[in-house]
Amino acid sequence: VFRNLKNAKQFAIDIGGSLTKIAYYSTVSFRRVYYATDNIDKNDEKNKDDKHDKFVYTYSEQARLHFVKFETKYIENCLDFIGDNLVNSDERKGKSIKATGGGAYKYSKLIQDKLGLKVDKEDELTCLITGCNFLLKNISDEAFVYNRNGSPEYEFQTADPHVFPYMLVNIGSGVSILKVESDSCYERIGGTATGGGTFWGLGTLLTKAKTFEELLDLAEKGDHRKADMLVKDIYGGDYETLGMHSDLIASSFGKICPRQNAESDYNEADLARSLLFAISNDIGQIACLYAMMHNLKKVYFGGYFLRNRSLSMHTISFSIKFWSRGTVQSLFLRHEGYLGAIGAFLKGTE
Ligand code: ADP
Repeated sequence: VFRNLKNAKQFAIDIGGSLTKIAYYSTVSFRRVYYATDNIDKNDEKNKDDKHDKFVYTYSEQARLHFVKFETKYIENCLDFIGDNLVNSDERKGKSIKATGGGAYKYSKLIQDKLGLKVDKEDELTCLITGCNFLLKNISDEAFVYNRNGSPEYEFQTADPHVFPYMLVNIGSGVSILKVESDSCYERIGGTATGGGTFWGLGTLLTKAKTFEELLDLAEKGDHRKADMLVKDIYGGDYETLGMHSDLIASSFGKICPRQNAESDYNEADLARSLLFAISNDIGQIACLYAMMHNLKKVYFGGYFLRNRSLSMHTISFSIKFWSRGTVQSLFLRHEGYLGAIGAFLKGTE
């Protein structure tokens, strides 16, 4: 369901390796209803029986940013959507479209041919950070700490102009790790190619899941201990001298081969969970090492991989806590997948 397209006024697009994200702005009408008993003149004849007169309606217009995503393999459909809804056909001449992500380069010609619009390319990292800074500084309850066993489970943060320094880990198809010291001072300090695209790709090979959501649903149902080799599978219990708990994963998927001749008792949900843990744990550990190396205490996670799913957020939080011994804090964002699109949108309003 695309909301408030009729009033759509301005938009930007972030064309990634897996997903294309659009942020568009429109105004939304709100109707407020007051029950106006106190203001009603009961002596006035016309108010006597007409109950409806006791209600007062006020109308107001509010600006809203809306978000839509498409798989990048359906980029043509995405451009049709833009052509049908977001750009006025008689106003296209000489106009441009704000675009970021690798696809702003790769599909530049396609966009020009299909929409008749020039492509105004914005740097991907700048957009990510612009979007992230905007959310952290202006939107209360955007960022939160996730604590599965905590009360509360979600600890929402208030908007704060003093957000720097921090680290942003963007988990998209691949992973980018950025050190952010101010609005204009930031650097890509690391990354890994084992990211959301890896989970999606390997997960599709290992299971019958048709969509990314199905894959995550499977992971939530599975039991990774059927596929993963734990410390207790090797030691029979805790590895006490190293302080390693018996349930820690010693080897992701490590139980599969030793069991190959025996009857396998793992199913595709177990494999999906094992894969989610393998990738999330490693991203958490890499993020933690970079944070400690650069003396950064706060790590925000962006990108479309997490989907605000509790299992993924818990795994990453656990990994960061474990490796940093509680000195580095992991924080998540409600609009995690749209940082780049929001940043590109803001560039268009400058
Ligand atoms: P990119 O800009 O590289 O496309 P994103 O931040 O959009 O990166 O994240 C893409 C990743 O998000 C995918 O590789 C996949 O792991 C995950 N993902 C989440 N939801 C979906 C979905 N509905 N379809 C495909 N991938 C999804």
